[in-house]
Amino acid sequence: MTARVHTLLRRVLVVGLAALAPAAFVPQVWSGTPPPRPLPQAAGELASPQRAAILLLTDTSAGGIAADLDILYPGRAKSVSFVEQKVTAELLAGFGYVITVVGDGANLDKLDYGEITAFAHGGGQVMSGLFEYARARNLHFSKTHVLDRLRPAMRIDVECDITKGFAAGDQVWWFGSVSSAPDPLYANQMYQRQIMGVRESDRVRILATSNVNHGAVMIEEKVGQGRIVAIDLLSPGRPFFNSYGSTNKYLFLGNMVNQAVRYGKQYPKRLSYDEFVAAMHQLAAKYPALSVKAEGPGSDGRQMYTFNVGDPAKPTMYFGGSVHGWEWENAYGLMRLAELLAENPRLEGLDTTRLHFKIMPIQNPWGHDHFTRQNARGVDLNRNFDAGWEELPAPQDVATPWDYNYKGARPASERETQIIQGIVDRYRPICVIDFHTADYVMLRAYRDDEPVIRAIQANIKTRLKDRFLAQRPYNGPYQQVNMDNITEPGAPKPYLIDYAAKQGTTAAFLIEMSGNRDDVQALVMNVDTVVEICLAATQECLKRIASR
Ligand SMILES: [Zn+2]
Repeated sequence: MTARVHTLLRRVLVVGLAALAPAAFVPQVWSGTPPPRPLPQAAGELASPQRAAILLLTDTSAGGIAADLDILYPGRAKSVSFVEQKVTAELLAGFGYVITVVGDGANLDKLDYGEITAFAHGGGQVMSGLFEYARARNLHFSKTHVLDRLRPAMRIDVECDITKGFAAGDQVWWFGSVSSAPDPLYANQMYQRQIMGVRESDRVRILATSNVNHGAVMIEEKVGQGRIVAIDLLSPGRPFFNSYGSTNKYLFLGNMVNQAVRYGKQYPKRLSYDEFVAAMHQLAAKYPALSVKAEGPGSDGRQMYTFNVGDPAKPTMYFGGSVHGWEWENAYGLMRLAELLAENPRLEGLDTTRLHFKIMPIQNPWGHDHFTRQNARGVDLNRNFDAGWEELPAPQDVATPWDYNYKGARPASERETQIIQGIVDRYRPICVIDFHTADYVMLRAYRDDEPVIRAIQANIKTRLKDRFLAQRPYNGPYQQVNMDNITEPGAPKPYLIDYAAKQGTTAAFLIEMSGNRDDVQALVMNVDTVVEICLAATQECLKRIASR
C-alpha cells in the first residue's frame, strides 16, 4: 500500500477526533533511540532470542500478568511482591528486564523507585506502570472513564523499536472495561490511564498519546545505559479473543524483551473488497517486481486478483486467503508478504528469485464483503473442490445453499473454485497454503511429502516461539500463537489443499489461526504470523530445490 493510501485511511479513521487534535505531530529524531537489532538472516538464528531474565514487581494478580508472562516467556519470568519483599539492588541483579505494576495506591511508596532507576542506569530495561512512574517523576497522573461513544485509544507518535508494527498516527485501542458494574448503565464504561503535562527533552519522549485527553499513554525515558518505558498494563485486561482495548497488551513489552514484531504491520481500516483491490494495484504500481493479475470473475461478477512475483517458469508457491469470506484478516498478511518480496527478493538471505509466487489474498470477494463463509450463491467454496466431492456426506448442514458447509451442485460448480483449480492445473505449485481462521492448527492434505511438511512445521514453530499471546477461539485457554498442532492425512475432501495434492502438490496444507474479529485490532499479530508461515514454507521449499 502506498504512503498516500495509508494517509487517506488514517484520515478517515481519525477525522472524528480532528477537532480535539493538538498541533500537528512531527516525528522526532531522538538521539537516544537504541539501535534496532538486525533481523536474523534465517529462522535457525531465532532459536536464541535475548534470553535475559524478566522480573515482575507487583502487588496485584489483577489482569493475570504473571500468568501471561509465564505463557509468553516460559522459565524466563519471575514474579515478586514488592510489598512483601524489599526492592534492592541485590534483588534486581541478574535480571535484564524489570516490569512494575502497582495496583493499590496505598502501596505506591513501598516500591523503591530509586532502585528501579538505578537498575535502568546500569543498562537495565524497565517497563513501568504510569501510576508509579508519575509518582516517581512528580507528574500528574490521570484516570479517565468514558462511555462507549468514544473507544479509548493511544495514537502512536514515534516509530521506534518499542512501537514496531505501527506507524506514527496509527490508533491502538487501549483501555480496560468495567464489566461487573451493578448499574447496567456502567457496563459499557471504559477506562484508560494517562500522564498529563509530560515535558519532552533529549532524555524523555512521548511514544503515544491518548485520544481521550491527549495525555501521554506511553513514555520513554533514557536513563544512563538503559531506559524506562512507562505504559499502563493494569487497565487492559487479558487479551480475549475479540477484545479491543487489550488485544495488543503484550505487544510493546514483547518488542522490548523479545522483538515480538518482525514483519507485522497495522492496517488502520478493514477495507472493502474493491478498496483492497485498489490497494493491491497501488502496491504493484510502486514495485516493478510485483504485478497484479485479473484471474476472472467470481460468483458476484467481480474480478478475482492475484499478486505475482518472480518468473512463472520457476517452481510456483501459491498462497491464498479468505476462501471463507469472513476469515478476512489473513488477506492483509498476504498483502504484506507481497510487499516484502517485492521490496527485497533476498529477504532473510533467501534467494526467492528461484521461485514464482502467486498470491490470492481474497479468494471469495462476495463473502469477504458480506462477512459470510459462503460465496454469492451460498456455496462453501472449500467444500466445492474436485477432490472427494462425491464422498463428502451431505447431512443437514451440507445439502442446500447457505447451509454452513453447502458443497454446491457438483464438483467445482463455482467460478471461484474453477479459477483457483485453473491456477493449480496450470502452474502445478510445489507448495499451496490456504489460510483460514479461527483456531491454531495446521491441516495436512490427504497426501503429501511428510518430511517437507514436518520441516515446514518445525520452521514455523521456531519462528513463532515466544512472540504473541492469544486466547484460543472461542473463550478457550491462553497460549502462545503457534502451530504446534498438526493433523494426520485422511481421506480426500473437497478442499483446495486436497485438490492441489491430487494434482501433484507435495506441500499443500491449510492453516487455521486466530481471526474473524470485528475489526483491525489484531492485524499486527495476524500479519506477522502469516508472513512467518509463508517464509517458513519458502525457506524449506528452497532447500528442497537446492538438494535436487
Ligand atoms: Zn475457513
